[in-house]
This record gives sequence, structure tokens and C-alpha cells, in this order.
Amino acid sequence: AEDVGGGDKEVVRDYFNNTGFERWKKIYGEATEGVNSVQLDIRLGHAQTVENALSMLRDGGPIAGLSVCDAGCGTGSFSIPLASDGALVTASDISAAMVAEAERQARETLADRPDIQMPKFEVKDLESLDGKFDIVVCLDVLIHYPQGKAEAMIAHLASLAESRLVLSFAPKTLYYDLLKRVGELFPGPSKATRAYLHAERDVEQALEKVGWRVRKRGFIRTRFYFAKLVEAVPVGLA
Ligand code: SAM
Repeated sequence: AEDVGGGDKEVVRDYFNNTGFERWKKIYGEATEGVNSVQLDIRLGHAQTVENALSMLRDGGPIAGLSVCDAGCGTGSFSIPLASDGALVTASDISAAMVAEAERQARETLADRPDIQMPKFEVKDLESLDGKFDIVVCLDVLIHYPQGKAEAMIAHLASLAESRLVLSFAPKTLYYDLLKRVGELFPGPSKATRAYLHAERDVEQALEKVGWRVRKRGFIRTRFYFAKLVEAVPVGLA
């Protein structure tokens, strides 16, 4: 699983503005027509990741009024419930198509909530995000990057967070085998992107290097979807 020539980021951006956008919008959506059983299964798994991540955050106390950065927000699956909880959400994604869709869904879902603040949407790769947030969240994004890049991303995300960082990634385990069997699941090279798995230990080390440590963990697993979820805090706060 090494870096592919030409830069993963540009390939990933292009993918999520085109075929990847259509594919993931469908997976993360609600309609069942034209959605195959593998995609439905991934939808379920991803929904659990969102639920778990929300519980992790809520367990730490009320999130209303806290600033949250959702890096790689996709269609807004996490940003929308966060905003609905009263968090001050900044949602960004490398894909303009994703951001437009997230914004549309937020407007639709939160239309009857004049009491809350709409997420602030931005088309931006997470490497160029700046500012400070109480909480930074990055779900199911690291899978698109090889270890070295993922490590740099983790360090950057940690630098944006004051008190908590929540990450999900596909763990490097038995999963390999499964991935091969269901090449359909994560688009292979022919479909422009590939999936990278990350050892939990490597993710943890990347966090430790920048002075953070894992405080909570979760593991989500359906037939075709696997994710590890970690919540990290600065060492001083752990
Ligand atoms: N986090 C969302 C969720 O869990 O619903 C979306 C997950 S989707 C599998 C991956 C998302 O990451 C896509 O929307 C993609 O455009 C975005 N992405 C990929 N690389 C990125 C980067 N370098 N910076 C920001 N977003 C990125």
C-alpha cells in the first residue's frame, strides 16, 4: 500500500467530484432503489460509525455551543446531527460536489430549526484548514491515504483541536482479505482510488508524536464495512 504516482490527493478530489460523488451520495442516502446489498450494508456500517462518534462526543458532556470541525464532511452525515445538537460546526471537504450536497441536505434537514446555527461549509482539503476548534472530527477519510500522508494529516488535525480529536479508519487486519474478495466495496485502481488500511498502533503513534493520546475506542463492523474509531485528547488533559 504505497503512494501512487501523481499524488493521491488530486486523484481523490477528482474521484469525489465525479463517480465517487454519485456512488457515496447513494450509499449515504436514504433511498433504496438502485442500491445494491453491499452498498446497503456499507450504509448501515457507516451509520453506526456516525452514531458511535456522536455518542463519544456526547459522553464528554453537552456539545451545544462547542466549535467542531468536521474535516472531509462528505454529504454531511455527521455535521448535520452535530449542528442539530447545537454545536457550531465548520464542515469542509476537498470535493465541491460533496460540499454542495452537504449544504443542500443541511438546509433541508435543519429547515425547521431556527434555534440552531447552520454548519459553515467550505471546499477545502483538510491539510489547508486552519484555526482552532474545541473538537475536530475526521470520519472515513484516512482510508484514501497511505500511512505517511495519513500521519501528516493526523498531526495537522490535532494542531487544530483544543480538546478532542475523533478519527475513524479502516484497521489493517483480516480486513485485507475481505477487501480483496469484495473489490466492489472500495473502488480499485480502475475506478480511480484505492483503499489504504492503517494499523491502530500506527494511528496511535502518530497521535503520540504530537502529544495526544487515545482515550476511547470503538470498533464498527458489518459484513462489508469495518472501522476503528478513536477519541484522542492532549496528553495533559488525559
Ligand atoms: N466524513 C464523511 C462521512 O463519514 O460521512 C465522508 C466520508 S467519505 C468516504 C470520504 C470523504 O473525504 C469524501 O467526501 C472526500 O471528498 C473527502 N476527502 C478525501 N480526501 C480529503 C482531503 N484531503 N481533505 C478533505 N476531504 C477529503
